Amino acid sequence: SAKEQGRNVYCFFEPSMNRGAHEQLALVQDLRRALSLEQFELHYQPKLRAPDGPLVGVEALLRWHHHERGLVMPDTFIPLAEKTGLILEIGRWVINEACRQLMEWRAQGSEVPSVSVNLSATQFRSPGLLGKIKEALARHGMPPSSLILEITESTAMHDPEASLVILQRLSALGVQISIDDFGTGYSSLLYLKRLPASELKIDRAFVKDLVPGSEDAAIVSAIIALGRTLNLSVIAEGVETEAQQKLLTELGCTSLQGYHFGRPDAAASIGARL
Ligand code: C2E
Ligand code: MG
Ligand code: MG
Ligand code: MG
Repeated sequence: SAKEQGRNVYCFFEPSMNRGAHEQLALVQDLRRALSLEQFELHYQPKLRAPDGPLVGVEALLRWHHHERGLVMPDTFIPLAEKTGLILEIGRWVINEACRQLMEWRAQGSEVPSVSVNLSATQFRSPGLLGKIKEALARHGMPPSSLILEITESTAMHDPEASLVILQRLSALGVQISIDDFGTGYSSLLYLKRLPASELKIDRAFVKDLVPGSEDAAIVSAIIALGRTLNLSVIAEGVETEAQQKLLTELGCTSLQGYHFGRPDAAASIGARL
């Protein structure tokens, strides 16, 4: 081991260490420079009123164009950005870019009612969040209600009392809140009732194998009923087929999002479709 071999042997290079760890380290180093090298891009995916429109907004999804690896997806680098704290700087860029793009579309005459931005747990709990959002809205002259912040159910329910305070502050700015990946966490209904959210987003796990009469259909119905009771709109993510579109609409979903309506794509392609 490094210890046995003595000084100057840094444990990061220990031969027994798996490739995965080395690779993650290299990836983190590249991630540190990705912002200044302008390697990030936002893709946008349409959200439609059920069953097939009009457009109610778009969700911004982060993409990393790595100089060697090509396109790196968020599930690979967001966890690293979280661990290293880089997510705060990256997240600030995302919020700004999403607001800028929405206002650009509007200036071009495309009516995009809202843009949704995902916030990770670290971003959500960071003291600078409110300031960053205010700054982005002001810089781009964006009406606060056109910005939807998506936080996962797990993040919201991790420390519900603290989340409530953060969400109340965000809500006071006039931005909207969506509870993402709903159904995969453990919601306290007592807190859910108090959260100033406007949307529940049903996780793709319940949509993937959705067929009439299934357990998934019963869960989706229950989430929709909950949404109605709490006066929240309910959107389903991961809608890939016409059958899912039809059933989700029958069950009472307010809006739909998924490959069936459009994959996340560069702003220019989305703009051309609008
Ligand atoms: P999410 O917010 O739940 O986003 C939904 C994911 O499902 C996206 O993956 C989207 O491309 C994908 N998706 C959409 N429709 C379909 C469909 O019909 N079928 C299938 N199989 N997948 C579909 P993506 O873009 O890889 O993002 C993964 C996750 O990374 C997001 O999950 C979100 O949690 C996180 N993420 C993405 N962008 C950002 C960001 O800017 N900031 C932060 N903090 N997290 C982000
Ligand atoms: Mg999301
Ligand atoms: Mg989701
Ligand atoms: Mg997700």
